[in-house]
Order: sequence, then C-alpha cells, then structure tokens
Amino acid sequence: MTINKFNTLCGIWIFVAIAAYVLLQFVTAPYGRHTKKGWGIEISNQWGWVIMELPSFLIMIYFCINSEPNKYSFLLMGLWLIHYFNRTFIFPLRIRTNGKKMPIAITGSAIFFNAINASLNGYYLSYFSSFDSSSFETIYFVVGIVLFSIGFFINQKSDNYLIGLRKPGEYGYKIPRGWLFEYISCPNHFGEIIQWTGFAIMAYNYAALSFLVWTLANLIPRALKHHRWYTEKFPEYPSKRKALIPWLI
Ligand code: NDP
Repeated sequence: MTINKFNTLCGIWIFVAIAAYVLLQFVTAPYGRHTKKGWGIEISNQWGWVIMELPSFLIMIYFCINSEPNKYSFLLMGLWLIHYFNRTFIFPLRIRTNGKKMPIAITGSAIFFNAINASLNGYYLSYFSSFDSSSFETIYFVVGIVLFSIGFFINQKSDNYLIGLRKPGEYGYKIPRGWLFEYISCPNHFGEIIQWTGFAIMAYNYAALSFLVWTLANLIPRALKHHRWYTEKFPEYPSKRKALIPWLI
C-alpha cells in the first residue's frame, strides 16, 4: 500500500469517528452505570472488557514481532502495549462490578473499533515510519512523552480511586471526593485524552491522529453522560464540578 492510500484510509476512519460522535449524542453506550436491558445477548462485564480490548493488544504484538521497527517506533508500540496490557488483563480483574453484564453488541462494536485502530497504528509504525535517533531530540518527542506520561498517571490514579470506592461486596455508587475529582467528574477520561494527545504528537502521523479523534468521539459524550448521571442521582452533587475539563466543560 502507498502512504497516500494509507492516509486516505485514515481520513475515512476520522470521518467515521466524527459520525460516531454525532451518534453518541443520541445513544448512550449501555455498560457500567448506563447498563440497561433491551440490547440483546449479554456477557459478563469483566469478560466483555477482556474480549473487546484484546485485539488492540494482540494486533500490536503481531506488528511488533513481524516487522523490524526503528527504535522510535518500537517505543511507541511499547507505550501502546503497556496501556492495553493494563486495559485488557489488569483493569477487568480489578473492577468490582459484581455480576454486572454488558451487551454483546457493545463488545462487538468495540472489537471492530479497536482492531482497526491497532491495525492502522501498527501498520504505520511497522512499514511507513522514518523515525531515526534524531527523532528523540525533537519537540514532538519531548512534548508528546511528557503529555503521555501525565495522562497515563491521571488515568491510572483516577481508575484506581474509582475502583476503590466500592468495598468488597458493595454494589452502589458514591460521590468521588478529593484530588481532580473536586474539579471534574471524570478525571480518568480526562487523563486518557491527554495520554493519546501525547501519543499523537509523538507519533506525528494520520493513524495516531485518527485514534485520538476516536478517543475524543467516545470519551467526550461518555464523560458528559457520567456527569449528568451523577447530578441526577445525587441531589447534593457538588454544583461547581465540571464533567471533563476543569472550569470549562
Ligand atoms: P467509569 O469511570 O464509569 O468506572 C470505572 C470503574 O469504577 C468501574 O468499575 C465502575 O463501576 C467504578 N465506578 C465508577 N464510578 C464509581 C462511583 N462513583 N462509585 C463506585 N464505583 C464507581 O468507567 P468507564 O467505563 O467510563 O471507563 C473505564 C476506563 O476505560 C477509563 O479509564 C476510560 O478512560 C477508558 N475508556 C476508554 C475509551 C476509549 O475510547 N479510549 C472508551 C471508554 C472507556 P461500574 O462498572 O459498576 O459502573
């Protein structure tokens, strides 16, 4: 495939992400706190997470093994794999969702989205990237790795805190307090957006950009819906708290 054809594919994929963003204004993905009946066959929430995130991990491993990426691309692949190792194998084991279910339609659509994103990013890093040792000295690398690290830290710390809100055997939801939760309802989503913004800056290509657009398309509506859900469920919910970006939205 030529780079021009590849970039056209990424452009089409960005267009699909924008369409998904519009669709998610009207439909709430029914998993986690938004779980509801009527979406067909369901599987365990924890298995759902493993199955839907697995393609992102396996496909990137495939490209890593079957190509000879330069050091810079190898680092990007490594960052991707660290994130998806956690999301596929660690996060689902830790969540205390106590028998909650997820519609297979959600798992299936996430497999599709994850498989294409991992394929585009893995393919670019394996066959098109022309990074060399000087790439580590560019502003893209410095800004990108700093943002990726800050975002990863915020995402991990927030997910850990949220998972820890429920003691073993507890089922319900509590108002998160302290740290970034004083400013926004969803610091985990905020962190993940910063993380993939950093990745896109470091990777500097259309595949990474398309993945960032998909992340925004998924997480902006989800954070807004989480926030609205909190304000409807808890009358005492802090009124100054925003959904996703401190002081803004
Ligand atoms: P949530 O933020 O809703 O929840 C994370 C975990 O904490 C869940 O197990 C949830 O339980 C529990 N929890 C959350 N809030 C509370 C509370 N107030 N009281 C008690 N327990 C709570 O998870 P999401 O599904 O929205 O996201 C999970 C992770 O996946 C995030 O890191 C997010 O960034 C990432 N993600 C990434 C996407 C992408 O496109 N890149 C798309 C979607 C998510 P329960 O499941 O029972 O609600």
